[in-house]
Amino acid sequence: MKKTGFTTRALNVPFAKQDPHKALQMPLYESVAYEFDSAEQIEANFKGDYIAHVYSRTSSPTVEYFELKMKALTNSNGVVAMNSGMTAISTTILAICKAGDNIISGHRLFGHSYALFKQSFAEFGLETRFSDFDSEIEIESLIDDKTRAIYFETVTNPQLEIADIALLSRIAKKHQLLLIADSTITPPNVFQANKFGVNLEVISTTKYISGGATSFGGALVDHGNYNWELNPNISSYTKKFKQNAFIAKIRKNIYRNTGGGMAPQTARYQIQGLDILELRVEKCYQNCMALGDYLNSNAAIKQVDYPGLEGDKGYSLAKKYFNGVPGTIMSFDLESKEACFVFMNKLQIIRRATNLNDNKSLIIHPHSTIYAEFTEDERAKAGIRDTMLRLSVGIENVEDLIEDIELALK
Ligand SMILES: *Cc1c(COP(=O)(O)O)cnc(C)c1O
Repeated sequence: MKKTGFTTRALNVPFAKQDPHKALQMPLYESVAYEFDSAEQIEANFKGDYIAHVYSRTSSPTVEYFELKMKALTNSNGVVAMNSGMTAISTTILAICKAGDNIISGHRLFGHSYALFKQSFAEFGLETRFSDFDSEIEIESLIDDKTRAIYFETVTNPQLEIADIALLSRIAKKHQLLLIADSTITPPNVFQANKFGVNLEVISTTKYISGGATSFGGALVDHGNYNWELNPNISSYTKKFKQNAFIAKIRKNIYRNTGGGMAPQTARYQIQGLDILELRVEKCYQNCMALGDYLNSNAAIKQVDYPGLEGDKGYSLAKKYFNGVPGTIMSFDLESKEACFVFMNKLQIIRRATNLNDNKSLIIHPHSTIYAEFTEDERAKAGIRDTMLRLSVGIENVEDLIEDIELALK
């Protein structure tokens, strides 16, 4: 397709097969299995000579269309849709590693990603080496011949720190490692991962891409820019599948055998979510900027973190990597934990909930919730203060959000 804008492209990705009724919306195919005309045709399908949907755990038309749309919008080599963000992450790591291998990850991670690496994978002999990601020497000291990838989040949450992607990419290239980004917070209309040396993206589409908390989903995006011969757990697929070796291993092995595929009903929501993604991100961004100005001018607010704001420590990196739109989550500090609780309890429009990128604005006190299982020392290391609130900014009329905050601060 021509180089048109994001939303125009989103609305015009062709179906894999023309709909017999010329439907404008991709229909929801709820069938579990798909029929063949003859025994010979099934045989050809199982040999790989006749491509068709067979059984919906491995592929189905509605999910396939979501994948095609994601592929077009990320300008990538291939996309696999999953039933959650965590499945996208776990499936990816299980495909590139085996027991005894390791990956290098930032300390400041989405809580369940941290738990997955630190607890679940460790029990299977898969090690994660955590880094602060601010010193080249320190990162390089963690790499050995069993290291398979560097894994990072584009913007950490709730700290809202932006990864130095250029640094990570340089180290990954030098040591021939895969570079994996969890880009959930910065959707593909603001972050073009392959421009910055990222090889794979893992995304919780539950967040922005669902259209606003409509359904659970995940996506694994392969940018086709890594030499899979370099990974001993994938290299056996390169002879037959070339640049698609990783996707082939996912589809024929981990994804199929662990059963983490997206449900067709979910794909139906998420297709619609992609249509309106850019509109929603723009509105949330405008709201963040207006709220940032308001919060910064209010004496009751001790600190505001949003890298879209000039003066924020992440501002220049936000410009460099995300066109100035580093997602639409912000955090701010009040005087004390008690002040945070009183404030939260008075809010009438902003909802007390733990999700991100709903259409509604959501607030949470991370120290007492998401980080409740952490020791005080771990929380300090993670930069989680008990005076901090995280606000996921929605699409409401911003004057109503400001009034809600103003009244709750009184
Ligand atoms: C929510 C989230 C996940 C996990 O996604 P689920 O869809 O809840 O499984 C992973 N990474 C980040 C950055 C997230 O915000």
